[in-house]
Amino acid sequence: LSEKMSKKVGDKTYEYEIYKLVDQFSDVLTTRTQDFDFANPPIDPIYLAVSLLETMIKHGGVGLAAPQCGVSYRVFVMGAPGGQGYACFNPKITGTRGNPESAFEEGCLSFKGLYLNIKRPEAVEVEYQDMYGNKHTQIWDGLTARTFQHELDHLNGVVYTTLVDRYSLDKAKTKVKTNLKKLQRQRDNHERQAIIQRAMQTVAAQKKVDELAAQINIDIPDINVVVNNDEPVGG
Ligand SMILES: [Zn+2]
Repeated sequence: LSEKMSKKVGDKTYEYEIYKLVDQFSDVLTTRTQDFDFANPPIDPIYLAVSLLETMIKHGGVGLAAPQCGVSYRVFVMGAPGGQGYACFNPKITGTRGNPESAFEEGCLSFKGLYLNIKRPEAVEVEYQDMYGNKHTQIWDGLTARTFQHELDHLNGVVYTTLVDRYSLDKAKTKVKTNLKKLQRQRDNHERQAIIQRAMQTVAAQKKVDELAAQINIDIPDINVVVNNDEPVGG
């Protein structure tokens, strides 16, 4: 059972859930997904988009396609530089630009710790609908173009492990364990840093209080520095 959550952005409240990711052998990953019909939506598109974005952020990904969560519709989300999140419904590539065989090491939330060098066009001309069903056309390059193409593949039932030769795949697989350990270390460090930062903010606040107290010459009891390990860490 999934837990329903909600978050406030401005004066709007969005309901969502954190999806469970399907495992890498799941059939849904190799199945072409269905168009998302805005006239007769199978799921509330806003709920779906926010849930996918929150799930992507929770797992530290830059993109996530609905089938990776067992939802077989043509929808994916991605994060663009600057922290902006996009939900792309019924996405299409209408043209390519730049180097047609630009190489880049890709990861995938369905194959954590597996990095494969994949060649794809450097920039893409795309069409998609946002979560309200409005159509957009755009030209994307860099990481956004890369992510768009990787996620669009997912909607067609294509996973990146089928885009490299056997030798490269086997070689990359031998590094998964080490990569996963590295990822865990990074997450632990991130958590520790957030805890230290919160403690320092408390100390800084105490210092300010002390300075003010000295100016007006009164005694103020020490504020305890509370470092709470249970508090969720954002980012
Ligand atoms: Zn992927």
